[in-house]
Amino acid sequence: MTQRVVFLGGGTGGVMAANRLARMMSEEVQKGDLELLVLTDSDEHFYQPGLLYIALDQAFPEGFSRPEKRVLLPGVHMVLDPAVRVLPEERMVQCESGKKIQYDYLVIATGSVPDLDAIPGFREGARSFYTLPEAMELRKAVQQFAGGKVLLIIGVPHKCPVAPLEFMFMFEEALQRSGMRKEAELTYTYPIGRLHSLEPVADWAEQEFAKRDIHSETFFNVENIDPVRRVVNTLEGEERGYDLLIGIPPHTGARVIRDSGLGDRDGWIPTDRGTLRMKGQDHIYVLGDATDLPISKAGSTAHYQSEIVARNVAHELRGEPATALYDGKAFCFIESGLDEATHITFDYKTPPHPSEPGAMVHWFKLAFNEMYWLSLRGLI
Ligand SMILES: Cc1cc2nc3c(=O)[nH]c(=O)nc-3n(C[C@H](O)[C@H](O)[C@H](O)COP(=O)(O)OP(=O)(O)OC[C@H]3O[C@@H](n4cnc5c(N)ncnc54)[C@H](O)[C@@H]3O)c2cc1C
Repeated sequence: MTQRVVFLGGGTGGVMAANRLARMMSEEVQKGDLELLVLTDSDEHFYQPGLLYIALDQAFPEGFSRPEKRVLLPGVHMVLDPAVRVLPEERMVQCESGKKIQYDYLVIATGSVPDLDAIPGFREGARSFYTLPEAMELRKAVQQFAGGKVLLIIGVPHKCPVAPLEFMFMFEEALQRSGMRKEAELTYTYPIGRLHSLEPVADWAEQEFAKRDIHSETFFNVENIDPVRRVVNTLEGEERGYDLLIGIPPHTGARVIRDSGLGDRDGWIPTDRGTLRMKGQDHIYVLGDATDLPISKAGSTAHYQSEIVARNVAHELRGEPATALYDGKAFCFIESGLDEATHITFDYKTPPHPSEPGAMVHWFKLAFNEMYWLSLRGLI
């Protein structure tokens, strides 16, 4: 009898896991013994790290998307029908069209969603770059920037924890190049007592900010924004004015997860940190931003996890125990200007150590931006 694996979400994690499983079990797929379905709400696949370059006017959006069907290997089928409920008791996913799709194994990779309404006044007052429409608005603001106070505020949790740092470094250098740097006062804020959740990254950023005369404030938790007076009020009782407000909105899990009652209060799915199986569910695996794991919500995390999930599902389909274990590995490039970058690797046990920034790492990051499409196919 044909077995079916459904991948819920056609972003980075869903596509990588589906393509890897297709390669691991190519014989079963070819014989028709295994059916692989990617259930998606969009027929375009967008490479989100490109948003940073779009917002800073360093690239156009066109280079960062491909038709979803083209990123799937032969044998992996796309179903364009947003999921509205996961029904684990029935091993089914219910779609917007009313159709119910049965599965033997379900891989959830529904990502995370920026919540632009979590902070009163955010939508009106802040410019962000976590979705394409917001990045395009910020791009306009960057192009028209005529000097003044630039304030960067951060809501947590959010995906790609290093992207706000990258934005600040790159914007600072863009201002240097355009001769506007002297007209701008740059301030980076962070909710906890240092500049990043990972201590070595926070220490590194502090030193780099000092070299570039970028100010910073910690314990800065935004309570609300007054877009008319152009001020930010914090829970700590501070008031800060701005001319350009860059905002990183806090994120939650996808709506379908919250509506299905599968997540915690914020919609993150309880996930075993080793096997990546959903806690309490024998037939569901989770990867990427959707998990509740204490690691960065990043594409590289989803990348490493896709190998573990594909192997464990392959084991189970073959009647074997799920023996592949994720060790918390993540890798991030960090742009520290317009043509230099550093990088970090870390896992559950090993903290990161940012290297001395240089041009080579920057060019690796740009090269990876192109190679992403190969990594989706499981080739790198
Ligand atoms: C500005 C920015 C810069 C970044 N830079 C980096 C970087 O440099 N390095 C890095 O590693 N990561 C980076 N990231 C983070 C990275 O893009 C994400 O962490 C990664 O995409 C997570 O993969 P995922 O599969 O969990 O989620 P996603 O890739 O977001 O995919 C989730 C998919 O599920 C779909 N979905 C949701 N609900 C449903 C539903 N009900 N039915 C059907 N489909 C649904 C969504 O539409 C989406 O396609 C960046 C992100 C941003 C926004």
